[in-house]
Formats: sequence, C-alpha cells, structure tokens
Amino acid sequence: MGPCVHNERDTPTLFGAALAAKDGKMGATLDALHRLQEIELQLADVQGKIDKRYRAVKRQEERIAQIDADIASRLETIKRDQMDADRLELDMKGREAAIAKHRQQLNEAKTNKEYSAILTQLNTEKADSSKVEERVLTMMNELEAKRKSIDEIKTLRTSEVARRDELLAEAKATEMAAKSRLDELRTQRATAASVVPEKALGLFTRIAEKNDGEALAKVVRTHPKRAEYACDGCNMAINIEQVNAVMSRDEAVLCNSCKRILYMPSAAASLRA
Ligand SMILES: [Zn+2]
Repeated sequence: MGPCVHNERDTPTLFGAALAAKDGKMGATLDALHRLQEIELQLADVQGKIDKRYRAVKRQEERIAQIDADIASRLETIKRDQMDADRLELDMKGREAAIAKHRQQLNEAKTNKEYSAILTQLNTEKADSSKVEERVLTMMNELEAKRKSIDEIKTLRTSEVARRDELLAEAKATEMAAKSRLDELRTQRATAASVVPEKALGLFTRIAEKNDGEALAKVVRTHPKRAEYACDGCNMAINIEQVNAVMSRDEAVLCNSCKRILYMPSAAASLRA
C-alpha cells in the first residue's frame, strides 16, 4: 500500500473540501449529486435513442455516397472504353475504304499476276478488317452490358435514397416525441443542480460529460465473506480505506481508475455488508 496511500487520500481530500465548501455537509451534497445523476442518466438515455436514429441516417447516407462513387467510377470506365471503341471504328472505316479501293483496282487489273497480287492483298485486308469488326462488336456489347449494370445500380440507389428518407423521418419523429420529455428532464436537472454547490456541480458536470451522464459510481461488494469491494463503473477493486471514506460521507472519494465519484447504494445495505 505504501506509496499509493498518499495518492488515494490526497485527491479525494482536496475534492472533498471543494464539494463541501458551501455548507460543510458532504453527505447532503452527495445526495443532491445522486439525484442529479439519476436525471442525467434519463436525459442521456432519451438523447441516446435520438442519436441512434440519426446515426442510422448517417450510415445510410454513407451507403448512398458509396453507390455514387461506384457509379462515377463505372461511368469513367465506360467513357474510356467508348473512346477505344470509337478509335477502332475509325480504324475499321479506313480499312473498308482501302478494301473498296483494292476491289476497284482488281477490276482494272491488266495481267493475271497483277490481279493475283491485288487479290492476295485484298484477302489479307478483309481478314484483318473482320477481326477488327469483331473486336468492335465485342466492345459495343461490353459497353451495353456496363451501361445496363449502371442502370441497375441507379435503381438500387433510388431505393437506398427512399430508405434514407424513411430513416430521417423516423429520427425526426423520435426527436419530436421526445421533445417534451427532454424539456421536462432539463427543468428537473436545473432544479436538482440549483442545490448543489457550484464547485461540486462543475466537477460533476465534467465527469458526467466524459461518462454519458454517469459521474457517480456505486461501490459494490465483490466477495460475500471478505471485505472486498469494486467500483461498479469500471469494475476495478477499491481498497478498504477508500470504502471507509465513502461510508463516512465526510468527503467525496473518486475511483482511482475511472475517476467517478464513489457512493454507497444505501447506509443500510453497507451496514449489512
Ligand atoms: Zn471506477
């Protein structure tokens, strides 16, 4: 325990002085904080339900953004493929013109040798041209398929947008339904906070903000026979000196691990334990 003792006692004592500054009654302040925490937790719960709805909307929007990025990248590919196909088509037209020219020359050939030379060239050109034509056709078919798949993705996008609108409407409805409850809880919080000394309230608020409204943590007994205790907020062990300090209610004791304000569930329960 040696070097730890200083630390464990030091912080809570300073804190205790701050909390009890107003009237010197730590127990009363803790009770007031306890009421405040109950309201804070209800607020966090209601707000959490609203936030959850809006997170679902955000996730859906991310899904739509992904679809948009997919469509954009597919359109880019189609544009490139279309340019390749256009180039090839132009090439084919050049070949067709050459073939037509050689057909003409074939008709005008004066010798068998000349005729046969032109015919050989013509046949080679025709074979090459038909290969290119085949390639152009394949590319056109592929482009057609790619355009169709974009149409399918766009249909999917439409349904995802509809889903987003649904989720947004649900989120807004949840928010609207919770509005009066939130207002009521905020009023209750203001009332509960008004009886807490200023410094204690400041500290409570800082701890609550870090822990979803949970600034106080219950001390729980972890062994039925031995005097072993833990913080219910973080499940870390609490030593007996701290437990005694919490029970005396003279000063506030912070959990060494999670820094929440420790409290005993009730005097009767702690006496039984
Ligand atoms: Zn703790």
